[in-house]
Amino acid sequence: MSVDSPTHLTDGQLGALRDEIDRQLAKLQRSMRVTNEALRPVELDQTAVGRLSRIDLLQNQGLTRNLHQREQISLALLLEALKKMEAGAYGVCTACGSHIPFERLFVFPETPDCAACG
Ligand SMILES: [Zn+2]
Repeated sequence: MSVDSPTHLTDGQLGALRDEIDRQLAKLQRSMRVTNEALRPVELDQTAVGRLSRIDLLQNQGLTRNLHQREQISLALLLEALKKMEAGAYGVCTACGSHIPFERLFVFPETPDCAACG
């Protein structure tokens, strides 16, 4: 690691984190395809679907919408992390400016905060 490195992370650590972000992005995109499919309006056939299962269906769509929102947030965080990595500003807490330890980043590579702020 060079002395004037903009972050506290070694090239090897950054590479591992980059791979982890790519892996999580791929996984998220697969999951989002399923969620988008589930969010498509469902034809409610009153004769085929009883009142109770209709309520089930609507509740499931509520859960799917919550999941969809969480996925959107994860996606934004992962893309933001990639941008910071390219700018050499990755791994710095956006709240207090301290270095986020590699161990935390490896578990949550998309995190913008250190453990104390997040
Ligand atoms: Zn912090």
